[in-house]
Amino acid sequence: MIVEVLAVGTELLLGQTLNTNAAYIGERFAELGLDAHYQVVVGDNHDRMVDAIRTALSRADALIVTGGLGPTQDDITRVAICEAAGRRMLFSEEEAARLRSFWDRLGRPFPESNLCQAEYPEGAEQLRNPRGTAPGLFLEHDGVLLFALPGVPAELYRMLDDHVLPRLRTATGTGEVLVSRVLRTWGHGESAVAVLLDDLYHASSNPSVAFLASAGEVKVRLSAKAGSESDARALIEPLEKEVRRRMGESVFATDEETLEGILLDELRARGWTIGTAESVTSGMVAARLSLLPGASEVFRGSVIAYATDVKRDILGVPSEVIEAHGVIGPETAVAMAEGAAEVLSVDVAVATTGVAGPDYQGHPPGTVAVAVRTPIDTRSRLLRMPGDRERVRAYASTTVLQLARLGILGEWWGE
Ligand code: AMP
Ligand code: MG
Repeated sequence: MIVEVLAVGTELLLGQTLNTNAAYIGERFAELGLDAHYQVVVGDNHDRMVDAIRTALSRADALIVTGGLGPTQDDITRVAICEAAGRRMLFSEEEAARLRSFWDRLGRPFPESNLCQAEYPEGAEQLRNPRGTAPGLFLEHDGVLLFALPGVPAELYRMLDDHVLPRLRTATGTGEVLVSRVLRTWGHGESAVAVLLDDLYHASSNPSVAFLASAGEVKVRLSAKAGSESDARALIEPLEKEVRRRMGESVFATDEETLEGILLDELRARGWTIGTAESVTSGMVAARLSLLPGASEVFRGSVIAYATDVKRDILGVPSEVIEAHGVIGPETAVAMAEGAAEVLSVDVAVATTGVAGPDYQGHPPGTVAVAVRTPIDTRSRLLRMPGDRERVRAYASTTVLQLARLGILGEWWGE
């Protein structure tokens, strides 16, 4: 089945809104094994919308139009569909009543302009939108399945699950499902991962192997197509085992799991607490540690020690260490971590000190020393990272959290 996505909205063309709907739909369609040939963006212009819809209807088996279902003058998706498909516009009294009662419940006067949301092209079905007021549309036109969904992402996601994906699954009739497993890895670059898994990559088509590098990690995606989800999972399983065997502890999370979540779990399992001493990251590591519910069970706090005298006076980093090794030195990071463990009375302490930019004391931007102290051991690293201020700080945060994860497991990386 060939599918096409048509995103409507001038704001998308101007770059004011990122076309995340198309990306999301693309991902969901890929999971179903559907073939996407085009993703098109068109502004809120009647003639060009009609043209884009007609073109899609002529070359796709299913078309998803997103956006332009709102109540304002520029929301003309319904009108354009009528024109492109040669249908009359009808009006649903039932939908109109539903809209009115929605506003009644809010205790607000009904804006009459919203009545256009009760309109629908002849032959179309109105699709319930539990997260908003604009109903979606489903129309079968000359064998093409046409869906129109609201542009608001949360509404779209829900309606895709409720209405679109089940219909497309039925329509494809193959009953085939595509299941993916994503192994998030850290510590090997993309090319190193590719070399490690080269033979698996070439030997496998179902399940298939793909690599995605982003923000300091490499994702290895294993996908399989089969008649049922459990059959697809069974195809993935032996390959996943082999990938894990080769990559060891550099696989830190699976699918939607996060580094922060994994870290909290590992700490909780050991009954350990964690705290941070942060210079170059200034609380970014702490922010990530406190991201998830339940963080308070293990995360105790942070000392943001940006200035040298704060490192010395609050964290107790000895002046001699700073003089001998500089502010940006692994030894200083170690002293910061040890100081934090003491001051915050935590089992695990991580420390960062470095230059995000410009040069500092002869160190180029991107020079960062990190340390991790656990009840088992204390280790440190001097890192050189590329990028601007923002990237260096973000990357340093990720690196120290990853090193903390490995330190907690007793698996020190890079030795
Ligand atoms: P609309 O249904 O066109 O009124 O869109 C409502 C809102 O949804 C817009 O103001 C955007 O913020 C958002 N939106 C519309 N289209 C997209 C899209 N393709 N990707 C992400 N957000 C979108
Ligand atoms: Mg719009």
